[in-house]
Amino acid sequence: MSAPKLELVSLVKEYGDGAVVAVDGIDLRVQAGETIALLGPSGCGKSTTLNMIVGLENPTSGDIHIDGLSVVNVPPGKRDVGLVFQDYAVFPSMTVRGNLAFGLAVRGRPKHEITRAVSEVAELLGMADRLDVRARELGGSEQQRVAIGRTLVTRPAVLLLDEPLSNLEASARLAMRRELRRLQSEIGLTIIYVTHDQVEALSLADRIAVMQAGKILQVEKTALICERPDHVTVAGFLGSPPMNLFPGEIRREPSGRVFYAAGQRLPLPEGLGLRDGTCTLGLRAESLRLTREGDEPLRGRVSLVEPRGPDAVVTVDIGALSCRVVVPAAQRPDAGQTVGVSYLPRSLVFFDADSNRRIANAFFGEGNDDHAA
Ligand code: ADP
Repeated sequence: MSAPKLELVSLVKEYGDGAVVAVDGIDLRVQAGETIALLGPSGCGKSTTLNMIVGLENPTSGDIHIDGLSVVNVPPGKRDVGLVFQDYAVFPSMTVRGNLAFGLAVRGRPKHEITRAVSEVAELLGMADRLDVRARELGGSEQQRVAIGRTLVTRPAVLLLDEPLSNLEASARLAMRRELRRLQSEIGLTIIYVTHDQVEALSLADRIAVMQAGKILQVEKTALICERPDHVTVAGFLGSPPMNLFPGEIRREPSGRVFYAAGQRLPLPEGLGLRDGTCTLGLRAESLRLTREGDEPLRGRVSLVEPRGPDAVVTVDIGALSCRVVVPAAQRPDAGQTVGVSYLPRSLVFFDADSNRRIANAFFGEGNDDHAA
């Protein structure tokens, strides 16, 4: 594999002499042309990570490499990293042209180069006919496009986007998402995209790094992360709805191993490689099926039906357990109905009760799995 464009090595940032550990030893390799989303709740250390990459904050320890070279001692302006914030960083009284030219002008680039770069970026952003408009006369999404364009003209090795769409209203956000996807494919940028919104991460990133309390819990291809969460927190955070998580206990009975959760009994398939004891069972809502009759070990009462167009999220109360199942719209039951819930053995996921990490061998069928990366 080629050297990564950007590499974070055991990166740590503490504030107040260690009273706050904002970033707690993260490692990440980003390949050229790749878009990685840093996804996690507010306060988990996403912005601090970006600020260290761009050079606005110094790491307490660890290193940052761009094209294999450490940039920790390189001043922000010389790192070849562009940063776009959620607040449109444009000069309101300047024209679009002036805004786009700014980064190159302060670097003292020759005029013909600036003119060419500005018209290229304006073309790319579909703003060639808006060059003489003052930024304050533009709408929010156009201003954000100019902010991104201002960064693009300098052709940064790495583009950092910090919640760039969060101040836009829903329809503008969708349009900008499409726009960013087009930019990614047209110019092959290397992007770190910070967001707390999983829909944005899932629709824009090649890989997602899920952060919690200053650490990266998991980095995985976007297409796989919902199916293969490595950590209970990732499982409970990603997906719509997120995975059903049932803390419980595995016991050995004469008939085989059984999982007990809140008084419910689930016989387990052979060959899971699990030990007896406490753990958490994860079941994806999409991998479950509802049955009207039969002898499924799980039976319960439909307490809620949430239609979503082509499908519906059905909540089934099974004793004290509440379980969500995604069903095709045409098969949705009525609230109050009694239903069985069936599952494929290979879709069972178990997490260690202490570390909250997925128990590697417990994913039934792992090893001959057609989703393998
Ligand atoms: P996120 O971008 O994920 O919302 P941040 O990187 O902004 O998270 O913050 C991570 C943690 O570091 C938070 O607990 C925040 O309060 C703390 N923090 C950020 N900047 C400072 C600072 N300058 N001084 C002290 N604590 C800070």
